[in-house]
Amino acid sequence: MTQQNTPTVNASPQTRNCILCGTDASHHECYPGILRCPSCTLVFADAHLSAAELEHLYQRGYFFGDEYLDYQEDKPYLQRNFSARLKTLRRFSSGGNLFEIGCAYGYFLELAAKTWQAEGCDISAGACRDARSRGLNATAGDFMSLPLSRAWYDVVALWDTIEHLARPDLYVEKASQLLKPGGVLCATTGDVDSLVARSRGQRWRLIHPPTHLFYFSRKTIGKMFDQCGLEIVHFQHVGYSRSVQQMLYSLLVLNRETKIRKAIYNTVKPLLSFPLYLNLYDIMFVIARKK
Ligand SMILES: [Zn+2]
Repeated sequence: MTQQNTPTVNASPQTRNCILCGTDASHHECYPGILRCPSCTLVFADAHLSAAELEHLYQRGYFFGDEYLDYQEDKPYLQRNFSARLKTLRRFSSGGNLFEIGCAYGYFLELAAKTWQAEGCDISAGACRDARSRGLNATAGDFMSLPLSRAWYDVVALWDTIEHLARPDLYVEKASQLLKPGGVLCATTGDVDSLVARSRGQRWRLIHPPTHLFYFSRKTIGKMFDQCGLEIVHFQHVGYSRSVQQMLYSLLVLNRETKIRKAIYNTVKPLLSFPLYLNLYDIMFVIARKK
């Protein structure tokens, strides 16, 4: 994306311009607090969050009790998912330099380091400290402000990250600049056009602003990548291995905690420490190559 065709976003607090095409979507609410661009169909939260507010969302509580029940306890499940993504990714890149945006505790970097020179960043300083203590190359800070070498990386990864960003288009644009020609960007994010998302409507489990700000479809993520010089070479809907405890936590407690729900959860929790693989065909796994 060049500077000239970058849409002006939120020139005034009253307008909510689409980051992909610039159309004012402020009167096009599809669910309370969620807008759908009338021109390109991009779905996004009607939220104005400052960088400081966003950073505050991802303090320790996010990984322990807010969004995740216990991120570290979930490591085996998270790595099971990352291993599956890596198996596919290795068909498109066999080595070199890899950068992960939003590396959290480095569970992906740990596995990727077997194939690539792996490094990453995360806005959670505590998570990065933990990753570094295990010998991983994790930098605390916002990807947009890190000085990184252009055309240096073979892979840039964004796992379940772009939906959290205030300006995902700018992150993808910078990620594209970091890639060597022929390098690949890989990402997972929810698919707002999936059957589950459409049938659940505003109750779709991935609709939870302010941590999820963007809801892409194959069409809108393809448009964003295309504007950044990236061409989709792999697309699939993927499932996730998760601890049954975490699943129940998401269904019962996350964003809707009551004393009764918490009590039910705490009662059945000890019976649920096993993994379950579930594919609802509402999570996209996309690999795009730099043209
Ligand atoms: Zn649009």
